Amino acid sequence: MSILIERFEKIKSNISNLKPTQEVKIVAVSKTFPLSHIKPLIDYGHLHFGENKVQEAKSKWTDLKKSNKNFQLHMVGKLQTNKVKNALEIFDYIHSLDNQRLADALAKFQQNLNRSLKYFIQVNIGNEIQKSGIPPSELEGFFDYCTKEKNLNVIGLMVLPPNNDNTKKYFEKMRELSNSFSLKELSMGMSADYLEAVKFNSSYVRIGSQIFGSRN
Ligand SMILES: *Cc1c(COP(=O)(O)O)cnc(C)c1O
Repeated sequence: MSILIERFEKIKSNISNLKPTQEVKIVAVSKTFPLSHIKPLIDYGHLHFGENKVQEAKSKWTDLKKSNKNFQLHMVGKLQTNKVKNALEIFDYIHSLDNQRLADALAKFQQNLNRSLKYFIQVNIGNEIQKSGIPPSELEGFFDYCTKEKNLNVIGLMVLPPNNDNTKKYFEKMRELSNSFSLKELSMGMSADYLEAVKFNSSYVRIGSQIFGSRN
């Protein structure tokens, strides 16, 4: 068995050992890795993959998505407004909806598509100046803007918590926020902290290095 599959199965069993009440989807973050490296997991039948660059995603996944309509591609990185048109051609989920101009562009270009993407609003839970995301205090207004004025299908919140201190505390805050908006999905947890995230009701864990090895 490929080492990738062993690692993937290990992650799955680690998650199911926690007996989560929600379904937990594993987004295999394949950014920087060539298809040749990712292939065992594709052949294994896994369908959810994450990328953080529009151009890289298009060149890696366009043909594969044509041959199998069930692939679900997740944009997990910062999305520039000028790349929205291209992004909408390849991605099914955007985890990084984080400003009004982006919401405007997504709404505008989505009109020409015959499918609807799913969105996560990225929350800057630690109010860190260097990080993107909507500060918790502005979330209500932004959520209304995206859903009511722009008709974007927001299914949940996404977070990259501060990596300095208590991750648990931030996951807990995110769970509270998510509940207060009655959102079903929560995108949180990466290789280092996905089990903690699942304990706080994460339903999409974004895992790269723990599956594919370290990036360089
Ligand atoms: C790269 C990336 C991941 C995966 O990171 P790992 O630590 O390798 O699991 C998850 N989320 C985002 C937003 C990323 O950019």
